[in-house]
Amino acid sequence: MNREVKELILEKIKQYNRIFLFRHVRNDGDCVGATKGLKRILQLTFPQKEVYLIDENPSDYLKFLGPDDEAVCDDLYRDALGIVIDTASEARISNKNYKLCKEVIKIDHHIPLENYGDVIWVEEERSSACEMIADFYRTFSDELKIDSEAATYIYTGMVTDSGRFKYEGVTGETMRNAAVLLDAGINTEWLYANLYLDELGYLKFKAEVYNRIQITENGVAYIYIDKAMQEKFSLSLEEASACVSSLDSIRGAICWMAFIENGDAEGSIRVRLRSRFVHVNPIAEKYHGGGHACACGATVYSREEANALIKDADALLKEYKETHEGWL
Ligand code: AMP
Repeated sequence: MNREVKELILEKIKQYNRIFLFRHVRNDGDCVGATKGLKRILQLTFPQKEVYLIDENPSDYLKFLGPDDEAVCDDLYRDALGIVIDTASEARISNKNYKLCKEVIKIDHHIPLENYGDVIWVEEERSSACEMIADFYRTFSDELKIDSEAATYIYTGMVTDSGRFKYEGVTGETMRNAAVLLDAGINTEWLYANLYLDELGYLKFKAEVYNRIQITENGVAYIYIDKAMQEKFSLSLEEASACVSSLDSIRGAICWMAFIENGDAEGSIRVRLRSRFVHVNPIAEKYHGGGHACACGATVYSREEANALIKDADALLKEYKETHEGWL
């Protein structure tokens, strides 16, 4: 699929001696795995090229995958190729120096909110951007090199973004891509231990989350994590935000969301929206956000706005439940 654009991307990669990889703010397993994985593939295949991955906001949760590169001087970007992965809009690119690159390639699987870049490869039906990187490797496996390190990065993004191969976007092709990575040698026991294990203190926070979940009339489950709760459990924003997954298995609550106070001067509140069966991205888009049909993010600026968003989601579920069968 999309062979022509992939060929063009490989051609561009060959053309440049220096390549910078970029990802989105508030990084996650997919954008970290995809950028680290592609970087490793490029280094193995083209050892003479300089390949940089610079992102000054590392994630604690993903530090087991190792650090990124130190910042370099801006001039180095000027004659380089930039590859931005897993990032729908320019505003969400974490390292703004992508603007300095001579040419930019966009590789993404989000619903496109805008187009940027000189070469664009977007497949929104893919379960992860990492799946696209695995597919890119497979398409040119006679030329590109992979090893267990690269495979581990890419597999990490595939498992995290697909809910451990659970979501709608997972296809036979997803599994064929994953199989190629497993063949390269991945220590899955180590990987899953890193992804699943928590400190006991964090489990106590989760217990509090379960106690505080609220559900609207039509089945929107939500939790509001204010600053006081974050302080009580000594949580980073990343740890507080991760609680959205604790709301994902309530029968009938086909949409769930977490509101996390960012504690900034604007009083912004991060919203993480998730759903099964019903598509909730229009709600995220209405509140300064976007993402995927069933996993998206937004920002609100007050409790009132949070309540308005919940009300909108509740109305959406009412309509959906009245007109569809088979949800649970
Ligand atoms: P999150 O809840 O932050 O994990 O976001 C779920 C998905 O939606 C991810 O793929 C994000 O990249 C995307 N997303 C989150 N927030 C936004 C936003 N404000 N604008 C566009 N996409 C977003």
